[in-house]
Amino acid sequence: DRLRVECNRANYVHYNILMMSLCSRIYFLVVALEKTQKEFCFNMPAYLDYARFLSKAATRRQPSAIREATQLFARSPPTTINFASGSPNTSLFPFKEATITLIDGTNIQLDPSAMSKALQYLPTPGQADLLDWLKKLQDRYHSPQDFNRYDLCITNGSMEGLGKVFELVLNPGDSILVDSPCYSGSLDFLRGFGADIVSIDTDSNGMNDKHLNEILSNWPETKTFPKTLYTIPNGSNPTGASMNFERKKTIYEIAKKYDLLIIEDDPYYFLQFTKSEASFLSMDIDGRVIRLDSMSKVLSAGMRLGFVTAPVPLWQKIVYHQQVTSMHASALSQMVALKLFEKWNLSGFDEHTQRISKFYENQKTLMVDAINKHLKDMVTFNEPTAGMFIWMKLLGIQDTRKLIYEKALAKEVLLLPGSAFFVDQSKSYPFVRVSYSLCTPEQMETGMTRFGEVLREELAC
Ligand code: PMP
Repeated sequence: DRLRVECNRANYVHYNILMMSLCSRIYFLVVALEKTQKEFCFNMPAYLDYARFLSKAATRRQPSAIREATQLFARSPPTTINFASGSPNTSLFPFKEATITLIDGTNIQLDPSAMSKALQYLPTPGQADLLDWLKKLQDRYHSPQDFNRYDLCITNGSMEGLGKVFELVLNPGDSILVDSPCYSGSLDFLRGFGADIVSIDTDSNGMNDKHLNEILSNWPETKTFPKTLYTIPNGSNPTGASMNFERKKTIYEIAKKYDLLIIEDDPYYFLQFTKSEASFLSMDIDGRVIRLDSMSKVLSAGMRLGFVTAPVPLWQKIVYHQQVTSMHASALSQMVALKLFEKWNLSGFDEHTQRISKFYENQKTLMVDAINKHLKDMVTFNEPTAGMFIWMKLLGIQDTRKLIYEKALAKEVLLLPGSAFFVDQSKSYPFVRVSYSLCTPEQMETGMTRFGEVLREELAC
């Protein structure tokens, strides 16, 4: 405005001087903005050197041309003619549509168009609308600090994701730090893979940071330093322990100090009985967390739906791996989940997960009561605040494997011996894992009465 007013009364020279002054001001403004932007970027934490973390196999992995074409076509305008795909013609499949009745009596509908998508190959990371939905879910529950740095890949349960993540970062012989005791599925995978599994003690708060520090600070010079840490932060399988925020923060700082990636395996996230604490993903400021979620305890174990959230360069390699193994998680399962989520919205999902966690909390209380009533003074345990398991130490009994498979089973009660959850399975351990997910209150009463008899007989020997 000032320029216009001044130009009206100025001669031509005056106008030129004004323009030059204005241009130079714009120039300096642009320079200042660039400088601010650079300073801003400079202050943002840099990406890690992900090449350092990749296994030899992951480093070699390249995109599959056929799978990438599926992705390209999925993103193209609907008028695109596809001569590239080896997809079958869905009109020949015997299925047309489906109605699924929910437990509240309402329905979700897979009309012929949804059904035809559900019967076809998908881009490897998953069905685009479901991925968007899951991203919203991650943002809502974990609010990653810079979500653009991560991407999601839907997997056949979190177990498929876990296997892919382990193979992403490990060569046979490489060390990995794990909770001890640890989920037997992961131990079995790592053992078969030939990883050097390094056990870190746990307590009622999950992975023990002091032991972790001790192991890392005394790492032998002759052995390759570990690059990854694997932990189950909530309602751990088998201990039922959950990490609080302070413990997670300390573990994260240790991971930072030693430049470790954290593999956060959290299938019991929605089975928390108290307010949930920030996840490793939420506190990740430099892209060192790979998070695994599972729908097995929330929607259905048989639908085999889980998802990996990983920094983009790592995510990309996981996708390349999945392209040449399962190709993608079941499209039918993904479509059913999508239709359900669209019907529920986030509020319906919240209500559902709250109902689930209340159920398991009530089961836990009943099981704790039954244990206290029938096994008093013969066992110790920490009461879980999440998940489906109680980890019991049997006092005065060293080999629970023998006790369970020979004596408890004869009295028709089955528990899982603790040895399944330790790296060295040749030793004997005084622990058992008690699951409270399936049994009725009556079965808890009867089962613990029987197990109490077994323990008393054993201790009397
Ligand atoms: N991680 C842990 C700690 C588990 O307990 C389980 C299953 N019980 C899994 C992963 C695998 O779950 P999913 O069914 O999602 O494959």
